Amino acid sequence: MFNKILIANRGEIALRIIRTCKEMGIKTVAIYSKADTESLHVRFADEAVCIGPAASSESYLNIPRIMAAVEITNADAIHPGYGFLAENAGFAEICRQSGVKFIGPTPEMINKMGDKVTAKETMIKAGVPVVPGSPGLLKDVTQGVKIANSIGYPVILKATAGGGGKGMRIVTKDEDFEESWHSARKEAKASFTNDGIYVEKYVEEPRHIEFQIVGDQYGNVIHLSERDCSIQRRHQKLVEESPSPFMTPELREKMGEAAVLAGKCINYEGVGTIEFLVDKYRNFYFMEMNTRIQVEHPVTEEVINHDLIKEQIKVAAGIPISGKNYYPTMHAMECRINAEDVFNNFRPSPGKIVSFHSPKGHGVRVDTHVYAGYTVPPYYDSMIAKLICRAQTREDCIKKMQRALDEFIIEGIKTTLPFHKALMKNESFRDGDFNTAFMNTFNMDDCIE
Ligand code: ADP
Repeated sequence: MFNKILIANRGEIALRIIRTCKEMGIKTVAIYSKADTESLHVRFADEAVCIGPAASSESYLNIPRIMAAVEITNADAIHPGYGFLAENAGFAEICRQSGVKFIGPTPEMINKMGDKVTAKETMIKAGVPVVPGSPGLLKDVTQGVKIANSIGYPVILKATAGGGGKGMRIVTKDEDFEESWHSARKEAKASFTNDGIYVEKYVEEPRHIEFQIVGDQYGNVIHLSERDCSIQRRHQKLVEESPSPFMTPELREKMGEAAVLAGKCINYEGVGTIEFLVDKYRNFYFMEMNTRIQVEHPVTEEVINHDLIKEQIKVAAGIPISGKNYYPTMHAMECRINAEDVFNNFRPSPGKIVSFHSPKGHGVRVDTHVYAGYTVPPYYDSMIAKLICRAQTREDCIKKMQRALDEFIIEGIKTTLPFHKALMKNESFRDGDFNTAFMNTFNMDDCIE
């Protein structure tokens, strides 16, 4: 087992990783930017190294500085969390060359899955169903229009390097193709320095259902069932739950088998997520794979009663996994609490938290790095807390979530709490009758208390 893990991240996930390391008897090193001096991950790690100014490029994305911190502290492994360098194959390669274990898959696996076009090609070869689309990157508008006509509108243009919902454009007719193509490319270039675009059928009103998988270093791959992440705004998740209200035991078997096949075809090592779109007829299509721990992993932890970060560390240390899949025995739901103003188009609302009280009680979990007096810096992601509730049934889980949301007090900044309270009252949501288009018709006035 590792002696000391450096956590190349910040916020709630850094704290989450520190917690498991402590329970496993592993020492921890936090790295932080000057904007995060007061952050809890700095306080709770055994050691902390300031690696630079606020800008991510100067700190959490700066590989030479992170490697210098590894050297000074003599850490023997790096946990990248999610975001930042978590899916950066170059970083995983530098770790390998420096003799430090990157807690995650190999650079080769990240490359195979990080590029969405390559990932789709790999899945087609393995026999996993994918969304019909271009057989690779689009060369130009003419080719794109031709393919769009052969698969039929609407189509979606997507960035091969995409993430965080960026570089995507829905196109409904030939005349709009060129403009969408240029704007998708521009956004992709700015966000990922890679303007490779592909096109696929736009699946109308689908569910986003993803499978958690774990693979070890000996070729074993299992799945830990699904999470439904259909409640999204601008292709970004707001609420996740497990099991999916749309799931049937038969569909879970089929999708779980496809997810395991997807992992096995690249000998996947580590925890990962296979994302699928599911249409109203319960046809499912591989969309992409995330080769890291996800924001919404606690939902799975709660329903299968297992620590996924511990699993990740054990696999990285060469410990084999048990051969069986895991199935939900409870219902769990996560609300992402962001420092955003829901009455102003979800505009970021950084600043000082004046008072903070988090909900407690049976079946309630809050993963957060903030506290009263903490200032949310404007430089990073706006998520400040995850509220996770667990109960025997979906109905009870929603009731518990309502109770917990009512107990949650965050003053000084605007948060997405009013949205979540309104969502829990929404009839379609309560009935489990929703898809990724849900927010298009959601009435934001319902958030007014
Ligand atoms: P990112 O990596 O940027 O998060 P994804 O490929 O995971 O991008 O897609 C994000 C979301 O965009 C999905 O959850 C879904 O709501 C929507 N989406 C992506 N591809 C399609 C598609 N072919 N048809 C319909 N919706 C899609």
